[in-house]
Amino acid sequence: MGLIVQKFGGSSVADADRIRNVARIITETYKRGHNVVAVLSAQGDTTDDLIAKAAEINPHASKREMDMLLSTGEQISCSLCAMAVEAMGIPVVSLTGWQAGVQSNSSYGNARINRIVTERILTELDRRCIVIVTGFQGINKYGDITTLGRGGSDTSAVALAASLHADLCQIYTDVDGVYTADPRLVPGAHKLDEITFDEMLELATLGAQVLHNRSVEMAKRYNVNLEVLSSFSGKPGTRVKEVVKIMEKSHVSGIAKDKNVARLALVGLADEPGIAFRIFSLLAREKINVDIILQSIGRGDKKDISFTVAKSDAGEATRILEENREYIGFDHIDVNDKIAKVSIVGAGMINNPGVASSMFEALFNAGINIHMISTSEIKVSVLVDLDDADRAVQVVHNKFFGEVELQSAL
Ligand code: ADP
Ligand code: ASP
Ligand code: MG
Repeated sequence: MGLIVQKFGGSSVADADRIRNVARIITETYKRGHNVVAVLSAQGDTTDDLIAKAAEINPHASKREMDMLLSTGEQISCSLCAMAVEAMGIPVVSLTGWQAGVQSNSSYGNARINRIVTERILTELDRRCIVIVTGFQGINKYGDITTLGRGGSDTSAVALAASLHADLCQIYTDVDGVYTADPRLVPGAHKLDEITFDEMLELATLGAQVLHNRSVEMAKRYNVNLEVLSSFSGKPGTRVKEVVKIMEKSHVSGIAKDKNVARLALVGLADEPGIAFRIFSLLAREKINVDIILQSIGRGDKKDISFTVAKSDAGEATRILEENREYIGFDHIDVNDKIAKVSIVGAGMINNPGVASSMFEALFNAGINIHMISTSEIKVSVLVDLDDADRAVQVVHNKFFGEVELQSAL
């Protein structure tokens, strides 16, 4: 007998039939003798709908009140699922984040879990109850409800699995596992049987929404046995682990797209020491994350610095920089939010300089212009026009995986 944490995303609990399907999966696991902690997201588009409702009342609502509102979605799906399990005659209890002891910091809207006081859950498991916990939420030191950021139920599940020393954490979703690219965007994408924590972390951070990136970070830190699988198909999914047996023939494991990007360019900066420090310390003070940075070579005594931020931060970043125009010293700011970042990820690319150029070749052949490039040991990211982004993912995917498909078809 083991302890299994099973997380179900919004589409897996979208209506009554799907909730019954989740009840079936968790009770079957229970009947096999395991202790089961289920973590549920809000039903379907509930979280988006709640955000829209709030905007009707007050577009500038405080983050605290937003968390109070958004956390209700998960409470609905968990209580409904508990009712479905009850109807099957199996002992069950649903718990909110605070009842489950999920303690977080106070960053409303993007809180981090500090620790989980597991007593209540363990007591319920000792009584052989299935425990259903609301994903996406915690409680801070003031006793206020917090939420963990969009997609955060994955992180709730992994945090619970780590604190409870679970044998397995299964993330049930609406696709069969982690694919070489978003299967909804690239029909030829294929499912990976295994992927390393590092690659998955990059993919998730670079826009593959199948896992919340902090859940992968946490799974790596606590070595949680993690699997992504479908709540509909019953097929084996993708195992996310420290080391995988054999890498795909390709040096690339996956391709990700991130549309939540804006590019800011500060034009006409003085070409002298201290300018980059001024710009980026101002942004860091306001906790604005900067991603790709590009500095032009000086022309006379002037230079430009371009960088990317999350689209949602672009307005605030522009305001901060405009307010400090004299301190920084620039002619004007140019903002472009009609762009996207397309990235290839793979541990196998580190010793293969040809990988980046293959990506650039695929984009060139498709007539797609690259605005910025950034690389690390296991990824290459390019910034392209938003209108080109989906095509870019497809042609890059064909470049790296087209041949693999042909080989396996023979
Ligand atoms: P859930 O509601 O279950 O948390 P999400 O919508 O957050 O599900 O994540 C699942 C979705 O992630 C899939 O439907 C798929 O479109 C998308 N996705 C993006 N990149 C990938 C990828 N590389 N592999 C699998 N799914 C991906
Ligand atoms: N319901 C939340 C969201 O839509 C959390 C989640 O689904 O993981 O972002
Ligand atoms: Mg999700």
